[in-house]
Amino acid sequence: MERTLSIVKPDGVRKNVVGEVIGRFEKSGLNVAALKLISLSKEEAEGFYAVHKARPFFGSLTEFMSSGPVAVMVLTGDGAIKKVRDIMGATDPKNAAPGTIRKDFADSIESNIVHGSDGPDTAAFEIGYFFSALEILR
Ligand code: ATP
Ligand code: MG
Repeated sequence: MERTLSIVKPDGVRKNVVGEVIGRFEKSGLNVAALKLISLSKEEAEGFYAVHKARPFFGSLTEFMSSGPVAVMVLTGDGAIKKVRDIMGATDPKNAAPGTIRKDFADSIESNIVHGSDGPDTAAFEIGYFFSALEILR
């Protein structure tokens, strides 16, 4: 059993695909263990994406991530981290495989609908960034 963090980004909320994204995760056997809709400040988005601070797209990415509500969730299941990454597809929708969320819904490499933790250490940091232990219910 593994835990990961996923976010339906502001473009996904604007396109009304929150349910579609969660449905794809659930159909793959993952469990929603925590879930909320929140609005990130620029500073909160910067803290979340701190690993990308030196990247040229950091300013634009954190503007985008604070441009509207996001749905943040903890997903649990066997191999949850890789499962979510596989369902999301490649960062750039142009390179995403058919049937992935990003291929089906994303407009660009930045506005790419969904986030998923990329490893056990980042999953632990990202879950703790948004949820307390008491808010993770399975
Ligand atoms: P995420 O971390 O959001 O799940 P990822 O792991 O596929 O996505 P990262 O390399 O961690 O991709 O980049 C984080 C996010 O930064 C991307 O999802 C995308 O929104 C944005 N991003 C990545 N590369 C670029 C780029 N070249 N130009 C603009 N935005 C980018
Ligand atoms: Mg990433």
